[in-house]
Amino acid sequence: MTPALDEAREVLRRTFGHAEFRGLQAEVISEVLAGRSALAVLPTGGGKSLCYQIPSMIRPGLGLVVSPLIALMSDQVAGLVQSGVAAAKLDSNVDLNTRSETWRRIEAGELDLLYVSPEGLMQPSMLDRLQRTPLALVAIDEAHCVSQWGHDFRPEYRMLGRLAELFPDTPRLAVTATADSRTREDIRNELRLAGTKEFVASFARPELSLFAERKRGAAGKRVAELIAARRGRSGIVYAGSRDGTERIAQDLAAAGVPALAYHAGLDKNLREKRLEDFLDADEAVMVATIAFGMGVDKPDVRYVIHADPPASIEAYWQEVGRAGRDGEPAEGITLYSAADMAWAMKRIQSREVDDTVKQVQVRKVRQLYAMLDGMSCRAAGVRRYFGEEKVRPCGQCDLCLAPPESVDATEAAQKALSAVHRMGGRFGRGRLVDHLLGKTKEPSSFEAGLTTFGIGREFSPTGWRDLIDQLLFEGLLREDPNDGRPLIGLGDADGVRAVYRGERRVALRKALEGFDATT
Ligand code: ADP
Ligand code: ZN
Repeated sequence: MTPALDEAREVLRRTFGHAEFRGLQAEVISEVLAGRSALAVLPTGGGKSLCYQIPSMIRPGLGLVVSPLIALMSDQVAGLVQSGVAAAKLDSNVDLNTRSETWRRIEAGELDLLYVSPEGLMQPSMLDRLQRTPLALVAIDEAHCVSQWGHDFRPEYRMLGRLAELFPDTPRLAVTATADSRTREDIRNELRLAGTKEFVASFARPELSLFAERKRGAAGKRVAELIAARRGRSGIVYAGSRDGTERIAQDLAAAGVPALAYHAGLDKNLREKRLEDFLDADEAVMVATIAFGMGVDKPDVRYVIHADPPASIEAYWQEVGRAGRDGEPAEGITLYSAADMAWAMKRIQSREVDDTVKQVQVRKVRQLYAMLDGMSCRAAGVRRYFGEEKVRPCGQCDLCLAPPESVDATEAAQKALSAVHRMGGRFGRGRLVDHLLGKTKEPSSFEAGLTTFGIGREFSPTGWRDLIDQLLFEGLLREDPNDGRPLIGLGDADGVRAVYRGERRVALRKALEGFDATT
């Protein structure tokens, strides 16, 4: 250990009361202590703050911390002050007296850490004063906010790119809990961190076993079955709508399972009461929308079931991550369907945000469904998504335990794509299957005359439905919910062309599709 790191560990013990560094903390801190900029991706709870707090205390000068949320800043500063660290914040809530006292301390070199918002920092008067102040480092917390590819883009973070020129001799440390490879690349570009080291901690949660299955019929019924097999333990069920939570909670209660619904539409007192009941119980099931989660720390949650899928892999990992906090085995089970994906896409399109943001969200939905419907280790997929390299299969997800056999269905996919093409995207899934089977009742002469009519008699209706789902998940087909009468159209044109030409193969899970069976 270098002398500088010895000193860092001394601070860790004396000021923060921790015996040893965790994960990548020591490496990140060494890098900054050596005066070099870096990007660190550590999971939530991984101890990101110490990575900039300790070097700020050791290196001469003021440590500047840019943070997006005032509440977050206040918490951190209060905690630091309590531990005897000379820390302060300057945000829009700070009154004039405190502000000038803080500046006095900065100029006297008495302060180790100063927390600021991005827009506060970039004000000319602030920059001007800070440029005359010796700085230990500039930390950019929640650095994924700089990227449109992150899940929490903040335009004001873009301005932070200028820090590179404004403080050329000061090391900059960007930290975040979630950054897929695209977002990391963006962070580096935007914050001018080219050539600096990147530290990516493991996102592994070995206590979690992951499962996912396509919905067959109503999700509520399946959820009840899953929970019946897990009686005596506590869990969380996530549903996509308030109604959904109420319905599932009632079904469970009727089956004798102590279940509570939780969503933002409930009265605040009732919500708090239910949360307390849940936290106290040995066996309780919370059926919730995503309004439930922030700050829920129940260590013995044994399973998280998604009755409806989340919006991204980030959200998935955060929600599933609420199980097994005590380190004991726990499960994450997700039910999903092509219709869920179509709704997610539709919701994105109806949002009032930039097209570029929509494109990002669409891509995230696709990546999530590719993982859910994929054929290789789920945990490894998630970890790779977060930028981990050399990841091994977990050995305990459904796909590791029973690797699906795949069959080549490229020819059948060509038939289905060409049927959709010829039918002009005006029909739904049921009609498409009938068309392929040549079973449409009273087909129009237009339809009966198409070369694709009855082109797929060798396969079963279920087989075709599974294949159509697969093509939807792969983005080769697109489903427009069309207010309850979903229509199927062609998806990604390049992909479709590649399938026609046989350059792209379509593989089906043998276990799922019953594709060999004809009826
Ligand atoms: P995040 O990465 O989510 O920002 P924090 O920096 O808030 O995480 O740290 C999460 C928790 O872990 C805090 O309670 C902190 O005190 C604790 N912690 C951080 N580093 C260590 C360590 N080396 N040993 C023990 N606890 C630590
Ligand atoms: Zn696995």
